[in-house]
Amino acid sequence: MDCIFCKIASGEIPCKKAYEDDQILGFYDLDPQAPTHILLIPKEHIGSAMEITAENSQIVGHIFAVAAKLAKEHGLEKGFRIVNNCGEDGGQTVQHLHFHLLGGRSMQWPPG
Ligand code: AMP
Ligand code: ZN
Repeated sequence: MDCIFCKIASGEIPCKKAYEDDQILGFYDLDPQAPTHILLIPKEHIGSAMEITAENSQIVGHIFAVAAKLAKEHGLEKGFRIVNNCGEDGGQTVQHLHFHLLGGRSMQWPPG
């Protein structure tokens, strides 16, 4: 499958790693939108949040637990934002499930 995040997960395309275990990978976004901007992905290909089911949803909890740990390590005690863009209306540009961990500046609400 021609999926850029699968290729990053397999090591075929390089990335700047922030976290790795057997299930997930965290790496720095190429186009950071905040002083800390890390993408967290499952190594297994899941196309988007629309494909999360009772069978594969454990990975989402694991990603959030790692996000909390990374936030602490990056000094985000004042808070942070975890974003998942899903589908066309959600603004998803890479069709492999990923969560953005953004921090180090004050965020606006609502998003555009
Ligand atoms: P989204 O718009 O939610 O699908 O987010 C995709 C994100 O992936 C964007 O923030 C891109 O900057 C980022 N991105 C795309 N290709 C790479 C790459 N090779 N390495 C790191 N980040 C990437
Ligand atoms: Zn993929």
